[in-house]
Amino acid sequence: MTKILIIYTGGTIGMVNDAQTGMLIPFDFKQIRQNVPEMARLNYDLEVHSFDPILDSSNMHPDVWTKLAGIIESRYDEFDGFVILHGSDTMAYTASALSFMLENLAKPVVFTGSQLPIGEIRTDAKENLITALEIAATKKHGKAMVPEVCIYFDYQLFRGNRAIKYNAKNFEAFRTPNYHVLAEAGVHLTFFNNYIQKASLGPLIVHSNFNANIGVLKMYPGITAQAVKAITCAPVDAIIIETFGAGNTTTDCWFIESLEQAIQAGKIIVDISQCQVGSVELGKYETSRKLQDMGVISGYDMTFEAAVTKLMYLMGLNIPGPQIAQLMSQSLRGELTA
Ligand code: ASP
Repeated sequence: MTKILIIYTGGTIGMVNDAQTGMLIPFDFKQIRQNVPEMARLNYDLEVHSFDPILDSSNMHPDVWTKLAGIIESRYDEFDGFVILHGSDTMAYTASALSFMLENLAKPVVFTGSQLPIGEIRTDAKENLITALEIAATKKHGKAMVPEVCIYFDYQLFRGNRAIKYNAKNFEAFRTPNYHVLAEAGVHLTFFNNYIQKASLGPLIVHSNFNANIGVLKMYPGITAQAVKAITCAPVDAIIIETFGAGNTTTDCWFIESLEQAIQAGKIIVDISQCQVGSVELGKYETSRKLQDMGVISGYDMTFEAAVTKLMYLMGLNIPGPQIAQLMSQSLRGELTA
């Protein structure tokens, strides 16, 4: 029988309304089971690992990513797939982080959650959970159909490190603006094989160290030298600049000099676009040529979530700066198109 490990970290899916305050608060897995009796009808051997305490995902932290990867590593050989119940707020960050941590993944790791708690009549949680379990269990010629870290939400399966939470209101909470969906759930589950990663043959390698010492600089017209220097002079090891369009920034001398000084001080600077669709193209405009010349790294079409977690992961490997720079611009787990 197909064996799936459900890891319950928290999120709206398992929350209940606190009678006194009216706020949504995390609750234990028992009530998920009670609300989804259909789980017992699935012909899978399901085991549940519940976090203690369970989290609203806005409290997610790299230590928790390490804990999650550790659970998968220690139970990897026992299960055919893993379903992680997680709040939607930071699901794309955790999914991206795990995609980098789990090298040579050959089994599905499917994240899901919901916009409405599982106890509510109009909840999206049941469908999300049941289909996520089906996806984690699906095999072709005895091999996992989707051997990668992914997010299932509202009838669509997405690559985890390409996903963004773009909607806090509708059930369709996620998108992968720069990548095709991996599968769609209608009357049948339709998998788009050409877009799904091939399973690695080597043994699973789990990387558990992160260096979270990163600064983020978001460009906007009128940004002041103080605001820029607060980031470029801060004691961080790397900076992500969220730039305009295809990777452009102001060419004001004070700005260019601030970045140059940060690079001379040994900081890694990665350029990703504020646009959700499309890619950074350093050197396309005069307003990015200087960035390219000084050694700013192109993040191409990576999401912010993927860029942050990849940088934390690469810096955690304790490899030399030039190697981090090279790997940042290269697809490691299908997170970018160069
Ligand atoms: N605040 C919740 C969380 O991310 C939202 C959700 O689950 O959709 O844990």
